[in-house]
This record gives sequence, structure tokens and C-alpha cells, in this order.
Amino acid sequence: MVTTATKTAATDVVLGRMEQHDHEEVLFCFDRATGLKAIIAIHDTTLGPALGGTRMWPYASEAEALHDVLRLSRGMTYKSALAGLDLGGGKAVIIGDARTQKTEAMFRRFGQFVESLNGRYITAEDVGMSTTEMVNIRKETRNVAGLPEEMGGSGDPSPVTAYGVYCGMKAAAKQAYGSDVLSSRKVSIQGGGNVGRYLAGYLVKDGAKVFITDIHDDKLAAIKAEHPAVTLVKPDEVYDLDVDIYSPCALGATVNDDTLKRLKCSVIAGAANNQLADESVHGKAVMKKGILYAPDFLINAGGIINCAWERNGYNRKAALGQTEAIYDTALRIFKASADLDIPTYLAANQAAEHRISGIREAGLRF
Ligand code: NAD
Repeated sequence: MVTTATKTAATDVVLGRMEQHDHEEVLFCFDRATGLKAIIAIHDTTLGPALGGTRMWPYASEAEALHDVLRLSRGMTYKSALAGLDLGGGKAVIIGDARTQKTEAMFRRFGQFVESLNGRYITAEDVGMSTTEMVNIRKETRNVAGLPEEMGGSGDPSPVTAYGVYCGMKAAAKQAYGSDVLSSRKVSIQGGGNVGRYLAGYLVKDGAKVFITDIHDDKLAAIKAEHPAVTLVKPDEVYDLDVDIYSPCALGATVNDDTLKRLKCSVIAGAANNQLADESVHGKAVMKKGILYAPDFLINAGGIINCAWERNGYNRKAALGQTEAIYDTALRIFKASADLDIPTYLAANQAAEHRISGIREAGLRF
């Protein structure tokens, strides 16, 4: 039986979580006909509409999905703020298996839920999604980015994200080793998906020694065929490799108590969102271990920068140019971290919060 007390407790689970980091809105979406189960979280719209991708993943529980979407949407607020974009932070998750459960109807129904938010949330691609899904979502709402170029869109954001990660990695190398040349560096990439495989391409071209892993052998085989110089490793081996740079490009929380005991790298620089399992704990722990952590939301902003350009008339060259600025922003954040003796994630958070509060206090909010 559901008592009043249980109902209150259940409400606290969501509203209490929203209160923790000032999330503005969370929309739960369910549709029996298409099997859609999704959650859209809008974290902060001070700087503009909340733009952030949709992730499709077979979450073990609703609580896990909610946890992910709240963390990811907050990350988007900070990411756009640091990248200098006039966008807020939001994200969506669809609970399901991206390999077997996608249908046109499901994504059109999801598009209707996005439309119901009246432009406060704009969706795009994330893990498990492709431009095909964006096209189906677009049938029901204009509030979608990452459409194919032939539809006037910016296409898959992943190559631009990978380029930004590469620029951020070079900045981290400059800070850690005094040179941003990667040719002599050993780099391990976790996740040979959309971003990982493009990143591998940049690194191989520079002459870096690249180790790459994925849970799907077909993806690894395709990367090996494209870049024969890479070394393939098993998923669990990635934390024990003797490398200079660890690049998480799969899922979040891979920098944690367990992996920190194993990692031998001196730089962490990758695309995955929310790499630190617990920001305050593991942000300090990496610093103590002498590892330079390039904050994920700082160096993986290429995709959002690319999507933002789609809204104002897409210009690939301009998007890549703005993405390159990640290099300078990263150096600025590393310097602030060193000057203030605080973890890099905190220096990046503070810079983002400074911009947001300045706009809010001036009464200029979206
Ligand atoms: P993707 O789904 O194309 O690739 C992720 C890959 O990681 C998949 O191939 C998957 O099989 C693999 N993987 C999952 N768990 C793994 C594990 N334990 N060990 C090894 N491999 C594993 O996603 P993507 O678009 O390449 O994004 C990668 C990461 O970067 C995600 O965290 C995403 O949120 C983040 N990101 C992506 C973009 C973008 O433009 N695509 C932008 C910003 C951030």
C-alpha cells in the first residue's frame, strides 16, 4: 500500500536531488505504445536555452537514470558557460538498449516531449544516438541540433568533440611536460565509439603511441582497420597500462577509488562526461597523486560548440576555430588551479559560476 509517508519520501527523492544543485525542471516521459521511458533534466537556463544531448542506455534502475541525467545536465551548464556560449544546461536519458530497441515511433514520441518544453530544452546526440534519431525527433520539434548537413544541420558533433579533446590534451601536455607535442606520448583511450575513434586518428597522425579498448570487438576491429598503428587492449586492462595520458571516452565515473590505485598516467584528458566518480573526493585525490586532470566539461565542449553554430547558420570553420580556443581556456584553468592550489575541476567550476552569476546579477538572464 502506498501511504502518504511513502509518497512524501518518493517526492523527496527527486525534489531533494534537484535542490542539491539547483536544477530547474525534471520531466519524466512514458509512452506505452512505443516503450519510451525517458527523463529530461533542465539544470540552469540563466545563459540561454538548455542544450544537451540525449543518452540511450540500459540503466539498471530508474534511480540510476535519474542520477545520470541530473549530473549530466549540470555538467552541460558548466560546459556551455566555460565555452562562452549563450546556452544553459540540460540533458535527457532514454532507458533502453540502443542496439535493439530504437524505433522511429519512439524517437518521434520523444520529440513531442521535447516540444512540450517550448524551447527551454534543445536536444542533440549523446551515447547510443546518431543523426538518424535526430531526424526522427525533428519531425516533432524544431528544438533539436546535430541534424545531418544535408538538412542544414551540423552533422555528427563527435569529430568536433574529438578535436576539442585533442586540443585540451595538448594543453594538458604543455602544462604537465612543458611541451604540447604528443609524438612521444603513450595514450590510452577507453571507448572506441564516435569520439574515441576520431581522437585515435588525431593522435596516430601526431605519432603518439595509442592503446584503445572497447566492450564491443566490432568497433575495435574497425578502428584497427582504419589505424593499424593502434594497440588494442581488453576493457579491464586499460587502468593498468604504463601510459602518460589516460583518455576516458566511454562512460563517466571511471576515475574512482579503485582505478586511482591502478592508474600510472600523469595526465587524464578525455571526452566522457563526469569522469570523477565524486568531484570533491577524486578531484583532490588526482591532484594529490600528481595527475593533471583536464576537466571533462572543459575539453569535451567541441560538440556543443558545433551544435551552437547550427542555431546561427552553420559554419564548420568557425566551429572548429572556437573549439581550438579550448587550448587557451585549459591553460588558463590550469594556471588558476596552480595559483590557488585547488583542483582543476574546482578552478573550472569557479570560472563557469563566475560567468553565470555575473549575467544573473545583471538581470540579463534568458
Ligand atoms: P559512443 O556511444 O559512440 O561511444 C562510447 C563507446 O564506449 C562505445 O563504443 C561503447 O561500447 C564503449 N564502452 C562503454 N563502456 C565501456 C567500457 N567499460 N570499457 C570500454 N569501452 C566501453 O559515445 P561517444 O559519442 O563516443 O561519447 C563518448 C563519451 O564522450 C560519452 O561519455 C559522451 O557523453 C561524451 N561526449 C560525447 C560527445 C559527442 O559529441 N559525441 C560530446 C561530449 C561528450
